[in-house]
Amino acid sequence: MKHQNRQHFSHHHILIPLQPDQDEQISCQACEDQISEPFHGCLSCNFYLHDRCIDAPRSLDHPSHPAHPLTLLPAPTYPTGSFTCSACTLHGKAYSFSCARCEFDLHVQCALMPSTTLVENHPHELQLIFDSPCQDESTKFECDVCKEIVNNDQWLFYCEACDFGAHLGCAEDPKGRPGKDSREGEEDEEDEEAEDPRLEWEGRIFEAERKLREQRIAHKLMLEALDNAADYVGPSYTRKYYYY
Ligand SMILES: [Zn+2]
Ligand SMILES: [Zn+2]
Ligand SMILES: [Zn+2]
Ligand SMILES: [Zn+2]
Ligand SMILES: [Zn+2]
Ligand SMILES: [Zn+2]
Repeated sequence: MKHQNRQHFSHHHILIPLQPDQDEQISCQACEDQISEPFHGCLSCNFYLHDRCIDAPRSLDHPSHPAHPLTLLPAPTYPTGSFTCSACTLHGKAYSFSCARCEFDLHVQCALMPSTTLVENHPHELQLIFDSPCQDESTKFECDVCKEIVNNDQWLFYCEACDFGAHLGCAEDPKGRPGKDSREGEEDEEDEEAEDPRLEWEGRIFEAERKLREQRIAHKLMLEALDNAADYVGPSYTRKYYYY
């Protein structure tokens, strides 16, 4: 599946499989995050999507908004051209999962957060919760990873037994790169070098030049053969015709 062309409702061209380039930072059209793993895109439009964002459903029933299903929108419909994500409380200008009736919006990546996660230095699974664990509105919860305040309207990952909690972003990052995966990543880079498209392109040019040379030689041999044949037949204008 991964290496095939894909289609997405939000773009009218076929999306081809692409590899991230270390020299160029490419961000996803849907979630605005950077792309660091194989992805799909349209080169002529500079339109790129994470595979996980391509796979995002068009409609989503989300426990944070049980009243209505959320619809995947390729652009905010508000006059400001942006939305405020109800999960992380940051603004977004790209795709959103949205309930138009309630003006409830989520970033794609926030909407697709797993319901549980693990972080370094905490032995228990953390649950995704949509309200502050503090009963009293005036009490602020402090993220146990970055030690910054988690606003009362922000979602967080939380272990109730230990009263341990983390911002969505703080819970996501530390477990992201175990040693094994990064070593696999290096191997992938070596593979990419072996399949460097520039080398392949040079190879093709070389091949084309070789064919052209062969054609020239074949043409010359043909002319000589005709010339020899003409010598047998005799008329001198044949030579003239082929050489000039
Ligand atoms: Zn994305
Ligand atoms: Zn395109
Ligand atoms: Zn968000
Ligand atoms: Zn709603
Ligand atoms: Zn934090
Ligand atoms: Zn715990």
